[in-house]
Amino acid sequence: MNLSQRARQLTPSATLATAQKAMELKKTGVDVISLTLGQPDFVTPINIQQAAILSIENGEASFYAPSNGIYPLRQAIIDRIETDHGYRYSLDEVVVSEGAKFGLYALFQVLLDKEDEVIIPVPYWVSYAEQVKLADGTPIFVEAKETNQFKVTVEDLENARTDKTKLVIINSPSNPTGMLYSKHELEAIGNWAVKHNVFIVADEIYGQLIYNGNEFTSMIELSDAIRKQTFIINGVSKSYAMTGWRIGYVLGDKEVIKAINTINSQSISNCGTVSQYAAVEALSGPQVSVETMRKSFEERLNTIYPLVEALPGVSIEKPKSAFYLYPNVRQTMTLCGYDNVTAFVDDLLEEAHVAVVSGEGFGTKDHIRISYATNIETIKKGVERIASFIEKKQ
Ligand code: PLP
Repeated sequence: MNLSQRARQLTPSATLATAQKAMELKKTGVDVISLTLGQPDFVTPINIQQAAILSIENGEASFYAPSNGIYPLRQAIIDRIETDHGYRYSLDEVVVSEGAKFGLYALFQVLLDKEDEVIIPVPYWVSYAEQVKLADGTPIFVEAKETNQFKVTVEDLENARTDKTKLVIINSPSNPTGMLYSKHELEAIGNWAVKHNVFIVADEIYGQLIYNGNEFTSMIELSDAIRKQTFIINGVSKSYAMTGWRIGYVLGDKEVIKAINTINSQSISNCGTVSQYAAVEALSGPQVSVETMRKSFEERLNTIYPLVEALPGVSIEKPKSAFYLYPNVRQTMTLCGYDNVTAFVDDLLEEAHVAVVSGEGFGTKDHIRISYATNIETIKKGVERIASFIEKKQ
């Protein structure tokens, strides 16, 4: 089959591919421990499930919804943002999307023309560059130095800026590194963006998963000028254990929001109506389950971090947020006779039956991503397997 050029240039998601490999091995009867996936292992809290069931029973879920999202959901998003970040967006500045992922996709589609450049800090979340390419934009990769906790500085951005720079993506808290930009760092980047008329895409999907007394600052909380320069991407997947429901949202300039609505209307029509009713309850109902899950992730981080840090040759700074570790394993690989991180990860799966994701999917060659969105026993067993693999190979 003659696939389009667009389809041919796409790279499949590295995280999904590794998870798939682990699943296939599991199906053959092998006891595989998977530390790959970016989703909470909790089921959706019961009050959210019940809201969905109610919308089915009373018939609301049977029908198409408005393409920009049901009114109560847009209202609930605006209220939650105001409560959490102190600024009230208007109804025409919010659009509901099929997960944060499709919100990003639609945003790139409406903002980018051929040759527009998008600055993407490396390591990056797997889908940014591919989505930019799908919109005919050009990804410009900028190293976010490990010595600076994988965060870019204004100087890094300025070195990458050209007259074609349209957007910069800031993902704080970060997948895959779990690092957080401080308010001061975000302000500096925001002012740089305003000065040079570069728009910011702030992917804040992990903003409620912050640990050990660290603090999250949203781009929303900075100056009016910075907020106007910014598109916020968020959703209910990670904080409310709702990855399967596919509800995200985009906030920002109303003309852009309207254009995303048009994309929705001509592609998906609307996000699943039942999911939207569930998301209303998530955002406006009791928030206690968010805190319960956050605490559980914090405990897991505090358990797994010292175990991973103690692995021979590994260097890692303690993450502050999200649910990933991104250790540098260059020295470990050398000890074990590897020079390619994907080969190292492949053998970890095949020989030690533990699945992690190669850093190559996130744009770096010396790292692996370990997800701790699973129970503590599995986490411990997984790290033990990595430790015995290293011991055997040394
Ligand atoms: N942004 C980041 C950084 C993510 O890690 C993910 C999911 O893995 C998403 C966006 C997409 O989330 P959603 O499930 O809402 O599409």
